[in-house]
Amino acid sequence: MVAMHFARLQRLHTWLGRALGLSLLALVVVVVWGSYQGTLTPGRAARVLGRWGVFPGLPSPWQVALIAGHRGHDSGAVCADGLQEVTITTAVADRTAAYLRRRGADVLVLDEYDPRLTGLRAEALVSIHADSCIDLTGFKVAGPAETVIPEADRRLVHCLETAYARASGLKQHPNTITRNMTGYHAFQRVAPETPGAIIELGFLGADRALLQTGQEHMARGIAEGILCFLEGQGEW
Ligand SMILES: [Zn+2]
Repeated sequence: MVAMHFARLQRLHTWLGRALGLSLLALVVVVVWGSYQGTLTPGRAARVLGRWGVFPGLPSPWQVALIAGHRGHDSGAVCADGLQEVTITTAVADRTAAYLRRRGADVLVLDEYDPRLTGLRAEALVSIHADSCIDLTGFKVAGPAETVIPEADRRLVHCLETAYARASGLKQHPNTITRNMTGYHAFQRVAPETPGAIIELGFLGADRALLQTGQEHMARGIAEGILCFLEGQGEW
């Protein structure tokens, strides 16, 4: 009885050893072949590993810049009771940054007219704002009207729209996209090859409760939208 168990265990041991050996061999083949073909770069490897967590020592795969709308400049929209847009945008920008950092991104949270915007190179720039205190509901996302990278900008906008709608539960309110959004000052300040988007999280009027208590969902939506873009997903 004991001998039979032992023989079985030994067979299992041999089999597991072979399976492990074959997996390692396959991994070596993939790495060598990928490096030889130029399809496996340290950046790409870091990107793949970054999906499962932050690995110390690996270069950060992504540089992301967020603008905390109005911060360092003015208060943005103000409601009758004193609620300020900048309070919301700053909190959501900080939460978004924390979420992205947990996924291995390098994140800068910038002021509205931050001097670092000039010539800024990043894999994505997203400015976070909220709409006025009127009785409307909905969010919207816009990219630059003038751009040398229209496909990248459109894909970033589309990724943000999809992920933010899912996470926040809000519907889009596209009829109020203005030239203030598509001609947003930061789009022209950053390096031309930096993809950019601006999001209006919702209206301080009818979306007020969500803007105050649903910030974690909003931040997750923005972060997931940015990750969708960085990972090369999202049709437009
Ligand atoms: Zn604003």
